[in-house]
Amino acid sequence: MHTSFNLIRKDLENGALTCSQLVRYYLDNINKKTHLNVFVEIYQEEAKARAAKIDLKIKAGTAGRLAGMVITVKDVICHKDHKLQAGSKILEGFDSQFDATAIERLLAEDAIIIGRTNCDEFAMGSSNENSAFGPVLNDADNERVPGGSSGGSAVSVQADTCLVALGSDTGGSVRQPASFCGVLGLKPTYSRISRHGLIAYASSFDTIGIFAKNVATIALVLEVVAGADEFDSTVSQKEVPAYTKKLDPKNHYRLAYIKEALEGEGLSESVRNNLLENLDRLRDAGHTVEQVDFPMLEHILPTYYILTWAEASSNLSRFDGVRYGYRSPNTYNLESMYKKTRTEGFGEEVKSRIMLGTFVLSANYYDAYYTKAQKVRRLVRDHTRAILQDYDFIVLPTSPTTAFKLGEHNKNPLEMYLADLFTVQSSVAGLPAISIPKGVDENNLPIGIQLMADDFKEEELLAFSDYFLNLS
Ligand code: GLN
Repeated sequence: MHTSFNLIRKDLENGALTCSQLVRYYLDNINKKTHLNVFVEIYQEEAKARAAKIDLKIKAGTAGRLAGMVITVKDVICHKDHKLQAGSKILEGFDSQFDATAIERLLAEDAIIIGRTNCDEFAMGSSNENSAFGPVLNDADNERVPGGSSGGSAVSVQADTCLVALGSDTGGSVRQPASFCGVLGLKPTYSRISRHGLIAYASSFDTIGIFAKNVATIALVLEVVAGADEFDSTVSQKEVPAYTKKLDPKNHYRLAYIKEALEGEGLSESVRNNLLENLDRLRDAGHTVEQVDFPMLEHILPTYYILTWAEASSNLSRFDGVRYGYRSPNTYNLESMYKKTRTEGFGEEVKSRIMLGTFVLSANYYDAYYTKAQKVRRLVRDHTRAILQDYDFIVLPTSPTTAFKLGEHNKNPLEMYLADLFTVQSSVAGLPAISIPKGVDENNLPIGIQLMADDFKEEELLAFSDYFLNLS
């Protein structure tokens, strides 16, 4: 099937294809790929019925802008009257009462949601191994992880079971799995897309992100879902540019790469060489490519984790057996209900983060950890933006390695956290970033390159991404 929505739409308009055929095509692929464990739930009948209706609208000339766009939604985004579990036992049996703003806007333009995708519990993880529904497998190599936490979303696009996937990115959860799976993954500027209806992990970092195999398709989805929303007080009021009216790439770009990022021990040879080759390609094409120093790089990961643990411990306090989902059956008073529900309902990684977050927020340690991390956060943002005053984009590896084996890192959280080494910078700084698939390593595993831009520069970022993706 085409990977560009514009081509699909053309076929739909001229009668070469119908939405019903499209949905059948993706459902067939879903059935062929059940071993990947991508879907927590497939909306088979609903998607078919919706496709038939939208086919009529296309014929009548009344179809919305996304008619024929088949999408999947990560299990952390509310979809009215559909189940939602955030990959956790604690939300067993929970039904969404409303649509997330992003979902409402996609549906209003006639997108078709084909299923809900597996992810790490409460979006905490880098391999999709922390899910109550079991791990997702990478379609490029079934012994390897797809990345996380939006692993199911990434593989749903990789394995051609949909055209577009919505995920969430707090510290890399869209970009890192996109790089492991060889697809594009965009994390917009913080506050560009409403978080209303996105289950909160770390509210000052959380963004909804978009996976696809084609830049124009991402631009269209962003254009539809971004912008002001009365249900999210933190969302930007800035006007949404017409991302689909693609900017022409400039003849000359100024690109920076970070010296310390290439020197780290954890960076694999193949990812490093791939980045250097791509930087050479950009130089050969006439762009300025320069090295910059960012000595704070090593402090970003601890800053990210201290702050997100703190926010998570607060956000997840609402899951206590009273209102949502699971309640332990073996309780005898209110306190034992809280304790047992949370002990039995949450997985290990989530529990350890709640405890660490509670610790860094506790009276005796608040200043040493939380306050300090907030200060470092400001420095990271200021220093990153200072680079972006002189350069159009910062070019980084998306992840230090390609997809690792299932079980390889899940005994040691520190090893797992290193997978986010390069994605957390834009998250801590609140800046937009995208992962672009650029070649493969010696095992034929996809490698992603990350581009980071200044606040609200998605238009420029998408124009350059399209150019860079096709630069050989
Ligand atoms: N892997 C990172 C974490 O575990 C990022 C997760 C995310 O972006 N949701 O926090």
